[in-house]
Amino acid sequence: MVDQNCIFCRIIAGEIPAQTLYEDQLCIAFRDLHPQAPVHVLVIPRAHIESLNEAGQRDEPTLGHLLRVAARVAGEQGLEESGFRTVINTGAGVGQSVFHLHLHVLGGREFNWPPG
Ligand code: AMP
Repeated sequence: MVDQNCIFCRIIAGEIPAQTLYEDQLCIAFRDLHPQAPVHVLVIPRAHIESLNEAGQRDEPTLGHLLRVAARVAGEQGLEESGFRTVINTGAGVGQSVFHLHLHVLGGREFNWPPG
């Protein structure tokens, strides 16, 4: 059953189009609709986990996998040398707007630290 209230579950189900760059049994990666950098990809688990706050011990293999897929996609997008930033917003207070866990993979421009 697809959670009709979750836009990312609907992307996984193919109900909403996305520019998919990678997919496997645990996750998919697609371009962000409102890119904040020349490369802006989201890596999301197929399982509906609302945020890191809801991730449990049984999700640890998936969480590790998401990080490796982030690096793989970044490399395929030509960011291995220049580097890339991975971001996970957890909670509306820091900017999470879609409550289906996702990693942002950003690159192709300069980034400041600390982040805003
Ligand atoms: P966050 O604010 O960390 O929850 O990130 C949610 C991200 O999802 C934002 O960068 C949005 O631009 C992106 N987004 C929302 N809807 C879509 C969509 N249909 N396809 C691709 N990216 C989306």
